[in-house]
Amino acid sequence: MSLNIANCPKCGKLYARNAKNMCPDCFKQIEDQYRKCLLFLRENRKCTLSELSDGTGVGTNTITNFIREGRISIAEYQNMSYKCEVCGASIREGHICESCRQRLSKDVQNLREDERRRIDRQQGDGFLKDR
Ligand SMILES: [Zn+2]
Ligand SMILES: [Zn+2]
Repeated sequence: MSLNIANCPKCGKLYARNAKNMCPDCFKQIEDQYRKCLLFLRENRKCTLSELSDGTGVGTNTITNFIREGRISIAEYQNMSYKCEVCGASIREGHICESCRQRLSKDVQNLREDERRRIDRQQGDGFLKDR
């Protein structure tokens, strides 16, 4: 029976496990927040993320989650943006901004370069020893 009971990750209460991964109270709260956001957006198509947060009392993190989950589509709301997870710059899609994306892919390239050089060196050493 313990398998079907878990602590809610949001409020810590015990609840019967479900597909939402949170207790019914927290789920209902989030749905209420979501509805509030939709209503506010309907009246305020030009609002920003912080205006939406102020207007609804819903935290910007929660709203950002709605956007990332695709529940709120910001394509229709030209002033809506949220923060890059790395540097905090304003973005309208994905998790990180363009410059962080480029920097990260460069880091990955550098790692690959280092790895390639290390292997080259090892192979070079083996080559020398063989002689
Ligand atoms: Zn809960
Ligand atoms: Zn960034």
